Amino acid sequence: MQSFACVQAKLLPRLHPADPNMSEIKDLIEETKKQLLHLQSLGVEGVKLVDTVKTAPIRRATATTVRATPQPPTETRQPTPVPKQQATSSTSGLFGDAGPAPETLARSTETFEQIHKEIGDCTRCPLHLQRTTVVHTEGNRKARLMFVGEAPGADEDIQARPFVGRAGQLLTKIIEAIGFKREEVLIGNVNRCRPPGNRQPTPEEASMCKPFLLREIAVVQPEVIVVLGNTAIQNLLETRVGVSKIRGTFQNYKGIKVMPTFHPAYLLRDPSKKRETWEDLKKVRDLLDSTAK
Ligand code: URA
Repeated sequence: MQSFACVQAKLLPRLHPADPNMSEIKDLIEETKKQLLHLQSLGVEGVKLVDTVKTAPIRRATATTVRATPQPPTETRQPTPVPKQQATSSTSGLFGDAGPAPETLARSTETFEQIHKEIGDCTRCPLHLQRTTVVHTEGNRKARLMFVGEAPGADEDIQARPFVGRAGQLLTKIIEAIGFKREEVLIGNVNRCRPPGNRQPTPEEASMCKPFLLREIAVVQPEVIVVLGNTAIQNLLETRVGVSKIRGTFQNYKGIKVMPTFHPAYLLRDPSKKRETWEDLKKVRDLLDSTAK
C-alpha cells in the first residue's frame, strides 16, 4: 500500500488537469486501490492500509503533495465478490464503521413482451445499420440460471435467436453438462444486434442496449448469472478486469450471484480453456444444487 501511495504521489502532480489521460489514470488509481482493499479484506498478508493515502477525487493536478482525506469505500468499477456471509441489512465497513446495506434488485412487474415492444425496430445505435434482426433474450422466464454473452453472430442475426451458431452449440453442451436443458435457462446478450464482422460492441453501443438486459434480469431475477467473456463480464459487473483474472469466483450483481467464465467462442479457438470453464460451471451447479427446493 505504501508503494501505491508513492505511485499516486509521484504520478498525480505531473499531470495537467486537461491531460486527455487524466480520467483513465484516475480510474486506474481507484481500481488499484480497490484491488488492494479487496486483498486486504481477504486477509492477504503484507497489504497494509495507511490512512494517509488520498482516496478522494483528485482535485489539483499541480499539487506537489497529495493530502490525506480518509474516505469510506466508494462504488467503483471494481466488481464485488460475493461475501462469505451475505449481510442482510447493514454490513461492517473496511474502516470498522457500518456501511450501507448491499444494493438489491427490486423485482420488476414488466413483461418481456413490453420490453421487446419498447425495443421495437431499434435504431438507437449504429449497429442497426447492418443487422438483419434484433436478437432478444430467450428461454425460461422463471429460470434459476441465466447466461449472458456479447452480441449475436451471423447465425443468430439470421435466425433471430441467441447462441445458435457454433459457439451456441457449445454453450448448449455446457448447459447440459451441468444438468439443465437449454430451454430451462435464460440466454441473452449485452447487445441485440450483430456488430459488423463480429467485432466487439463499442462501450457506447453496449450502453445503449444493456438497460434492456438489466430490465429482463429484474423481471426474472435468476439465482445465478453466468457471464461469458469480457464484454458480458465488464458490462454486467461494471469492471475493466478481464476474464482470466476474475473467472471462477462468484461476483455480485445487486444480490444475484454472477459467475464469470470464458466465452464459448473463445473455447472453440482455445480448447485448453475448457477445463477451467468446467471448474467454473461445476461451482454454479453445486450452488444451484445446494439451494434447490
Ligand atoms: N456470441 C455471443 O456472444 N452471443 C451470441 O448470441 C452468439 C455468439
